[in-house]
Formats: sequence, C-alpha cells, structure tokens
Amino acid sequence: MATTGASKTQFGGLGKWWGVLAGALLIAAWINSAAGPAVVAGLSAAVLLWCFFQAPVTCGAPVRGRTDGCRNNAAGLLLGCHIRQHRWQKLKMLILRRQLRAFCAGLFSDGKAAIVTLAGLGSFVSGLVALVPGVVVH
Ligand SMILES: [Zn+2]
Repeated sequence: MATTGASKTQFGGLGKWWGVLAGALLIAAWINSAAGPAVVAGLSAAVLLWCFFQAPVTCGAPVRGRTDGCRNNAAGLLLGCHIRQHRWQKLKMLILRRQLRAFCAGLFSDGKAAIVTLAGLGSFVSGLVALVPGVVVH
C-alpha cells in the first residue's frame, strides 16, 4: 500500500519547515508592492514565531560528558527537546547574562540553526520596517 507510516513521517518532517515557505512569501510580499505593510508584518510575525518555537533545530542543551551537547530535535531556537530539563534551557540561558554568549554560539552551531537564526533576524527586521511608518519610502 502507498499509505505507509514512513511516508507520513517524511511528509510531517517537511511540514516542520513551513516557516521557510512563509519566509519565501514574505520576500515575495516585499518584492510585490501590492502587498501592504499588514501582510508583510503578519508574515514577519509568523516566520519569527516559527523560528522561536517550531523550527526543527538541534536541542544543544549541555549534557554531562558531551562537548557538543544534546543532539535531540528541538522545537525552535528558544525551546529545547522533549527532555524536561532541556525544554526551558535556552530561555534560562537568555536570562542569565553570563550564559548569553553560549546561547549566541548555539544559534550558529550548525547549518540548520544558522538558517533559522538568519530567517528570524530577517523577519524581525522586516516586521520592524513594516510596522514603523516612514522607514521605507514607497
Ligand atoms: Zn535536549
């Protein structure tokens, strides 16, 4: 049968990357001036939320005896994996100033994280520009 669990899992894996699709729409909205600032701001917020809470990145929480940290899949740049102690690890790092450097290093720890970080930065700037009147001259 074609409807196997494996193919469903694969589709689910691709579905996790919907933020990239939203990012592409965001770029299209910037290119096409017919899309108003509300559309740009909405898409920017969606991409940003995806980066923070849904993007499929590596957990990276410190694990005793491992230099590269936890390799489980995490949900977004701000949340860890399914392990309870890891879930809020990155938010804690953001709050504790002395761990901020480690948090920032984690944002570019691998290719996936770098893509998600850059998408987040881009959407943040894009949302800011769309929401603050007078920044962009049409
Ligand atoms: Zn973890």
